[in-house]
Amino acid sequence: MTTTKETTTLETPITEEFDVLIVGAGISGVGGAYHLTQQLPETSFVVLEGQDSFGGTWWSHRYPGIRSDSDLHTFGYRFKPWSGPPIATAEEILKYMGEVIEENDLAKHIRYNHRITSANWSNEDNHWTIEATQTDTGNVKRFTAKFLWMCQGYYRHSEGYTPDWEGMDNYEGKIVHTEAWPEDLAYKNKNVLVIGSGTSAATLVPAIADDCKHVTVVQRTPTYYTPGANRNDLAETLRELEVDETWIHEIVRRQIIREQAIFTKMAREEPEKVRKELLAGVRAILGPDYDIETHFTPDYRPWRQRIAFIPDGDFFKAINSGQASIVTDEIEKFTKKGLLLKSGEELEAEIIVTATGFNMNVLGDIDFKIDDTPIDFSKTVTYRGMMFTGVPNLLWVFGYFRASWTLRADLLADFVCRLLKHMHKNDLEKVNVILRPEDKDMELLPWIDPENFNPNYLTRALPILPKRGDKPEWQHTQDYWREKDDIPAIDLDAPEFKYH
Ligand SMILES: Cc1cc2nc3c(=O)[nH]c(=O)nc-3n(C[C@H](O)[C@H](O)[C@H](O)COP(=O)(O)OP(=O)(O)OC[C@H]3O[C@@H](n4cnc5c(N)ncnc54)[C@H](O)[C@@H]3O)c2cc1C
Repeated sequence: MTTTKETTTLETPITEEFDVLIVGAGISGVGGAYHLTQQLPETSFVVLEGQDSFGGTWWSHRYPGIRSDSDLHTFGYRFKPWSGPPIATAEEILKYMGEVIEENDLAKHIRYNHRITSANWSNEDNHWTIEATQTDTGNVKRFTAKFLWMCQGYYRHSEGYTPDWEGMDNYEGKIVHTEAWPEDLAYKNKNVLVIGSGTSAATLVPAIADDCKHVTVVQRTPTYYTPGANRNDLAETLRELEVDETWIHEIVRRQIIREQAIFTKMAREEPEKVRKELLAGVRAILGPDYDIETHFTPDYRPWRQRIAFIPDGDFFKAINSGQASIVTDEIEKFTKKGLLLKSGEELEAEIIVTATGFNMNVLGDIDFKIDDTPIDFSKTVTYRGMMFTGVPNLLWVFGYFRASWTLRADLLADFVCRLLKHMHKNDLEKVNVILRPEDKDMELLPWIDPENFNPNYLTRALPILPKRGDKPEWQHTQDYWREKDDIPAIDLDAPEFKYH
């Protein structure tokens, strides 16, 4: 393996050479850096991050109340115990990640304000050439890497998704997307409309409701929510017994993973039962007179979209207090003073928050090429939702929707390290995934089955995402419980891997 060195030619800017280049310093990229230093300490690597600090999602989202909806025992890394309450604020997650960086001396590997714009694989040199623009100076930097570890997440951080409603330009108030929350937004004593029914809306509303005159959530369709205490009783008991935090972390992870497996199975096999249980949880807080049928009863079966966990039921408490309310209707258009709904109802507000989701993207909006020919990822087939046919030496960390993202980030980090070790040991420079003879007639399908999981941002992005096949090795199954055994057992000499 090489060490970092700098080369200069007359025609090109300085090129820095690395074995591995990690894109993004979010939870996946920082985890990747940790695993590389532990499992392959001789490997030279750099992490390039477009933002001015680490954290990814938890750095770019600044709206009041921003918090995880996964528990941090499993959203946290397997190697660093989480000792706080299960649901954490963005600030707490950033603190945890900062400790990982400091305790493992990772800062020296991370370059902030480096937005990668292009990556070109050379079949002659067997490396990627990556160009990044320094967002603070505008300078272009060039790097080469033998392996690209894509930890850039799955959506555009620069701008959230806002549908194009008629009349938006005429609205005299302020329109704010949750992904671009102005630090000085004056919402005190104002009427605020929040468009959207996902986790962001449910998190934001309790955080601002007391300060606002009133907050109205405007949703086209309801979402499943599950209220519960923000504490883990098993963790607390083990703490009382003075069990070591490392043990508590591992035991509680196992407990949560097991419970989630049971829940997921039940949601698949007995959707009606699960639906009733979820609705009963909401009913228990909102009371018998609340119109749950209209506002909290989705028309899809549980788990086709993420179920939003509501710690201590705070979203529902804001509704009970009268400070927040829900309107389930479609937006006809924006008016000067607010919204006109399809039912004819008009809502007025000084601020309209669009909690309308992401612009999903493929691999960080980077201009990918092989030998100067552009790669169209929608024409590739994914190997387990992490590699792509015809795209050498590249892996994308795309986590789970039904389990914590980081469970997969850890699993795939082990896989990358194992693959790199295998290549190094056998003096191999290039790895491609290829369809085997028995896969040649396999039907190619969209990235994910909309019957299985169908949030809007994913459905919008299906045309640009790689294709999947109908076998587990040619799709992102979203099934942690299978992958936790399958991925470590992948035979690196299997015919789907082609090396040079
Ligand atoms: C509000 C919110 C709450 C969420 N809560 C949960 C949760 O509770 N549990 C869960 O499992 N998932 C949750 N998710 C999903 C979440 O995105 C992931 O869990 C996780 O944070 C993704 O981590 P990541 O490091 O892979 O990507 P990200 O957090 O998206 O970080 C990617 C980083 O890569 C950088 N980057 C991207 N493109 C480039 C480029 N071209 N050049 C340089 N740098 C680039 C970005 O700037 C960013 O910092 C949530 C998402 C949101 C938006």
